[in-house]
Amino acid sequence: MAKNAAPVSEQSSLFSSLPDFGQPVEIAPGVFWLTLPLPGPPGHINTLLLRESTGWTVIDTGMFTPDTAALWRQVASDVLAGEPVCNVVITHCHPDHIGMAAWFAEEFGAELYMSRSEWLFSQFLLLLPDAEFGKIFRAFYHDCGGSPEFLNYIEQRGNQYSSMVMPVRQGHKRLVDGHYLKLGGTNWRTITASGHSPEMVTLYCSEHELLFAADQILPGISPNISVWPSEPEENPLKEYLTSLQNYSDLPETTRIFPSHGLPFQGVRSRIEALLQHHDERLQRVLDACATPRTAVDVARMMLGRDVELYQMPFTIGEGLAHLNYLIESGEIVKERRADGVLLYRRR
Ligand SMILES: [Zn+2]
Repeated sequence: MAKNAAPVSEQSSLFSSLPDFGQPVEIAPGVFWLTLPLPGPPGHINTLLLRESTGWTVIDTGMFTPDTAALWRQVASDVLAGEPVCNVVITHCHPDHIGMAAWFAEEFGAELYMSRSEWLFSQFLLLLPDAEFGKIFRAFYHDCGGSPEFLNYIEQRGNQYSSMVMPVRQGHKRLVDGHYLKLGGTNWRTITASGHSPEMVTLYCSEHELLFAADQILPGISPNISVWPSEPEENPLKEYLTSLQNYSDLPETTRIFPSHGLPFQGVRSRIEALLQHHDERLQRVLDACATPRTAVDVARMMLGRDVELYQMPFTIGEGLAHLNYLIESGEIVKERRADGVLLYRRR
């Protein structure tokens, strides 16, 4: 895997702790950092508020939950001072980012800014009926070697996405890689990345030396890179690792605001650490496949422990992402067992 040859400075946190939920912190003139609660790990999401001449721009919205809705109502009256939210910028279609987007359209008539793939994928997920969703996921995880208990769980769970995202009934203003967006009176360059989601938008402002990195570059963990039933043979890990290079020429002084965790500086050392993390995992997967394994076997070995049923899709997806990477690089082959389950082994 290509390594960045540039000298690497240390990654260092810019704050010692997260602000309280719903209490914005000004991080540049007219730009505020706002955290919102999430019901599961990592427990919070970072969003941005930008002051406009006619109201406010919100970047990412939190998950559609009663807690988040109550907090946004409070922020709207206490912080936004009765001024409307005119723009909502969504980095990607995952529920913790897009969940409340439709609320701003309903409440303020806000415009929705997204990349095309993220808008389309979100619509697809919102519209898929429970029974179809369950059937598609069951078939996919059967081939991965999922246990009967897990397959029953996933089929009965149905469409969980639509319970975490308020239905988006509006079109979008399309965000495209390399374009500039005027937000809070300054220019922000859109840098798109794929792997974690199809066409995630991150935003860089040279004037504020600030990158809103969404889930692409997180301070302590790698984002989940998963294969999903919509594209079972794709190689999202390669896309993710390639996308990381889109950030390697940012100045080292750039302040990185991730969607989860504390803001930090030291983009290149973080990229280096992420590349190394996946390199090690690829090697572990390759070693595990010395004898034929299912995707579920590989996922469990990669993580080194069992996980709860609700976390299994991410764990299996992550295992498959590494397996598909190694298939494309020619180091692993797969074959189908008589019962339809796929087995992976080292060449
Ligand atoms: Zn995400």
